[in-house]
Amino acid sequence: MTSPLRLSIDGAALVANWRWYAARSGSAACGAAVKANGYGLGARQVVDRLAAAGCRDFFVSSWDEAAALGPLDEGLSLSVLHGLREADVARALESRVRPVLNTPAMVARWKAVAPGRPCDVMVDTGMNRLGLSPSEARSEILSGVNIVTLISHLACADTPDHPMNRVQADLFRALSGLVRAKRYSLSNSAGICLGAPYRFDLTRPGIGLYGGEPGPGADPKPVVALSAEVLQVRPVSAGDAVGYGADFIASGPMRVAMLNIGYADGYRRAFAGVGTALIDGARRALLGRVSMDLVAVDVTGTQVGEGDWVVLDYDLPTASADTGVSQYELLTGLGRRFARDWV
Ligand SMILES: *Cc1c(COP(=O)(O)O)cnc(C)c1O
Repeated sequence: MTSPLRLSIDGAALVANWRWYAARSGSAACGAAVKANGYGLGARQVVDRLAAAGCRDFFVSSWDEAAALGPLDEGLSLSVLHGLREADVARALESRVRPVLNTPAMVARWKAVAPGRPCDVMVDTGMNRLGLSPSEARSEILSGVNIVTLISHLACADTPDHPMNRVQADLFRALSGLVRAKRYSLSNSAGICLGAPYRFDLTRPGIGLYGGEPGPGADPKPVVALSAEVLQVRPVSAGDAVGYGADFIASGPMRVAMLNIGYADGYRRAFAGVGTALIDGARRALLGRVSMDLVAVDVTGTQVGEGDWVVLDYDLPTASADTGVSQYELLTGLGRRFARDWV
């Protein structure tokens, strides 16, 4: 491994988090959202580990993502959340991956090219994002459509007291009595934490599997750890500036390490002033701004030298609270230059 920056991904923690959501899903099956390349970690590795733990239902956004996953074992189910554009038809027909039909045009397209073939359908219950409207879902346009999973998505599940949660669940329950499907699925990670009325037959956690904390009540195990190699260590004196804009001025003699990681790797500029590195068990401040490919850390009084590796604090809930960047963006923004190292 020669890359100077590394994402250590804890496969056991990923599986433990999935088991936590599976237990909280009660009698509902627990799937996994693996869109955006498994939230940046590597969709294939995520699927392999979760499938070995008993997960059967996976969700990606696009047919490109489905193709990138490669062949899936017989017993596994994969759905494409963004459905079936005209340009997707050929690929959909030659695979057993199911489109999640979101619009009347998509439904008509599927009926025309693959009559009777299994698919999923999304119904919008108030988020006004993707999906058929409730009245479209109740209409004759779905007659003859072989729906494996009728899906809806919660807008406010990370805010347990939000009145919209109940409204959406009640509407979805009513629709489940009117639209025939083999099973019904409403909840993402945060929705699962809202309790039994939100579980239906299948749940679709994402962020919680990867160490994010979707809302109160979950206690995720961290899955990712970031580390970067030290390219240079330099002494600075009182009054010396560090980095762009001379934003940091040393108040006394220090040792400063340059780490091989920056905002082009997804290590956001918002970490300036709040990010820390963990050295010998102690938190060390970042100094000055985050550059495109570099960041400076205070290593005064430590033995850290050129070629050493330094861990950056990337606990998702804390990092998100400190930077104002969502946990989802902190994960999915992690770039291509990391060596992704499953441990
Ligand atoms: C992304 C997504 C999920 C997973 O959501 P998390 O908040 O990451 O748990 C579930 N369902 C749909 C439709 C999604 O788009």
